[in-house]
Amino acid sequence: MSEAIHGSGGEAMIRLDRLTKSYPGRPEPAVHELTLDVPAGRIVAFVGPSGCGKTTTMKLINRLIEPTAGRIHLGGTDVTEVRADRLRRKIGYTIQQTGLFPHRTVASNIATVPRMLGWDAGSIAERVDELLNLVGLDPQHYRGRYPKQLSGGQQQRVGVARSLGADPAVMLMDEPFGAIDPLNREALQNELLRIQAQLRKTIVFVTHDIDEAIKMGDRIAIFRDGGRIAQYDVPERILGEPADDFVREFLGSGTAVKRLSLTRLADLDIPRWPTVDDSAEDAERVAVATRTDEEFLLLLDSERRPLGWQPRNRPDDRDAAVPLISPLGPRHTLFEALDQMLSVNSSASVVVDEQGRSRGVLRSTPSGS
Ligand code: ADP
Ligand code: MG
Repeated sequence: MSEAIHGSGGEAMIRLDRLTKSYPGRPEPAVHELTLDVPAGRIVAFVGPSGCGKTTTMKLINRLIEPTAGRIHLGGTDVTEVRADRLRRKIGYTIQQTGLFPHRTVASNIATVPRMLGWDAGSIAERVDELLNLVGLDPQHYRGRYPKQLSGGQQQRVGVARSLGADPAVMLMDEPFGAIDPLNREALQNELLRIQAQLRKTIVFVTHDIDEAIKMGDRIAIFRDGGRIAQYDVPERILGEPADDFVREFLGSGTAVKRLSLTRLADLDIPRWPTVDDSAEDAERVAVATRTDEEFLLLLDSERRPLGWQPRNRPDDRDAAVPLISPLGPRHTLFEALDQMLSVNSSASVVVDEQGRSRGVLRSTPSGS
């Protein structure tokens, strides 16, 4: 994320240059002179109201439909005239309805593009198992099943695996999790982010849900009617400096809270807190207690992992210690930190590093109040 903010991360993988699509008999083009760069190895979220031209743009990039005017460049090459079927093998395409072939097994579905490319059976079987593992489905269990024997979330995983079939550099995902219930949707979002951290594909991710765009996008393009861009920027700036009233309205209320979900604890300085080793003698416990105004001391084990809280006014009473609620790790966001404090009715949370050692304590109130 921070690389995107500072603008490094290389050249455009997808470049749209005044791309236009008009349908006969319609006064306004569905997409009008859309110009936009998608940087290599990043996720760009296209978000906007229904009918604003998101799907049309995806179909244009994938050449499921032909542009009326404008150019499309992929990896620095103008591909506007390249034969569409050749192009499509280099692009993974995932849609909401999955488009899985119902009468083919999971393995056969995932093998679609490698088979078109003429891979041998051994390589295909190997690739299918690799992809099933990648999307979190046990190959032994799933490769021989049929789509209708799977849940919606599992079908969507197979859809993602299939679009990754021949290891395309570019992935187009059109509302891929739009039909999934909220819980499974969150799991799939996290799964995709985990896969992306590994594979670094160039991904265009379409959604109509601004929260999903904020979560998934390294950058967000907010569309308005006719495929026009209202704002294209990193999520921090979209939330912090919306370009106009249209963007403001689209973001809705709660932008301050949404911004909290962009900050990971790993990127923050965590204030220190008075600590005492659980095995310390009474005298040392008392000494720490007299040096602080905090109501509680943080108890640590010999590896500096947090164990619990010791009341300052009873520093040497082992029975008075209060056990710790699960500490927050480096990958938690400020939003999750606040959520934890509110849900357990506590004003402070211990933050630990990758090894579980205490970094300090985050509090929901300014220190001293
Ligand atoms: P989105 O995906 O953002 O909801 P679409 O790209 O599907 O929007 O549609 C953009 C506009 O183009 C809409 O007004 C839609 O009705 C129109 N449109 C899409 N496909 C066709 C088509 N085949 N013929 C005529 N108009 C179309
Ligand atoms: Mg659409």
